Amino acid sequence: MFKVIITTSLTLLVAFASCQTPVNQNTTTTQPNKKPMETSYNKTDAEWKKELTPEQYEVLRLKGTERPGTGVYLNHKEKGFYTCAGCGTELFSNEQKFDSHCGWPSFDGELGGGDRVKKIKDFSHGMIRTEIVCAKCGGHLGHIFDDGPTATGQRYCVNSLSLGFKHAAKDSSAKK
Ligand SMILES: [Zn+2]
Repeated sequence: MFKVIITTSLTLLVAFASCQTPVNQNTTTTQPNKKPMETSYNKTDAEWKKELTPEQYEVLRLKGTERPGTGVYLNHKEKGFYTCAGCGTELFSNEQKFDSHCGWPSFDGELGGGDRVKKIKDFSHGMIRTEIVCAKCGGHLGHIFDDGPTATGQRYCVNSLSLGFKHAAKDSSAKK
C-alpha cells in the first residue's frame, strides 16, 4: 500500500513538473510566442530580420528577454535620449533612468504625452503583467510595474537590446 502511494505521488510530481515548462514552447495561447507580431508599421518580417541583429530581432519582434545583468545600457549614465532600436523613436531620457538593481535598464517615466510607449496586458508565463511596446513600430521593449521607488511610482523595465542611444549634446533637434 505504502509503495502504491509513493508511486502515485511520483507520477503526479512528474506530471506537474511537465506542466511547468512553458518557456519557448509554441503551445501558449495567450501570446503569439515565436511568431512575429503584425503591426501597422510598414516593414515586413524579412526586412526586420535584415535590419536587426539576431539578438535584437529575438527581443523586439519575438518578445524575447535578454539575460538580466547583460545589457549594454544597464549601467549607462550618459546624458541623452534612449531610442527604440527598431524605429529610432525617442522613448526615454537619461533623467528618467534610475538604478533599480533588477538587471535591466529601468525608467520612471517616458518621453512625450504617453503616446510613444504602448501598454498591453500580458498573461504569458503564468503571470499578469503589462507589456510595453514601441507605439510606432510595435517593437517589444519590456514590462512596466507600479512598484517604482521614485515619485512617479512607475518602473519601466526595458531590454537594452530594444534600445539605442542619442547623446544630448550631439543632437540639438532632440524633442522633449
Ligand atoms: Zn519603434
